[in-house]
Amino acid sequence: MGIREKPTRMDQVQSWRADFPVEYLYTTGVAGERFAKTLRERGMLAATRCQRCGVTYLPPRIYCQRCFADLSESWVEVPLQGVIHTYTVVPVRATGEPSQSLEVIAYIRIDGTEGGILGRVAVSPEAVYIGMAVEGVLAPPAERRGAVTDIRYFKPILS
Ligand SMILES: [Zn+2]
Repeated sequence: MGIREKPTRMDQVQSWRADFPVEYLYTTGVAGERFAKTLRERGMLAATRCQRCGVTYLPPRIYCQRCFADLSESWVEVPLQGVIHTYTVVPVRATGEPSQSLEVIAYIRIDGTEGGILGRVAVSPEAVYIGMAVEGVLAPPAERRGAVTDIRYFKPILS
């Protein structure tokens, strides 16, 4: 039975167990590359803005998903400030290692954009709440790698 033929009886179905070594290289694309470079070099978040729709996309998109306008030259930079949209409390680190304490992981809507970013919030599980204003704390410039992990954590903005 060939790979393109559809099995019609159970005795035609074959399988085998094996390990497949898989290596991959994740490409960020045009928008992801700009996002990563802006975060590493300027400590800001790169977003794109559609003038026609008045929407600022974060993560950035190179086409407006509403009107399909080309946004490849419509970049804006926004600071790492926003509001906790939702959160969870986890007993492990992002690496999978047990944590000494519970950690708060939140989806943060970034101010002035239609979108947001996931991040760890340096606040106790008892103190966190939806709507909390937070700001990102970056790694020192020499330690940034152009990854979202360059944002070490978010902390509450004290008013
Ligand atoms: Zn648009």
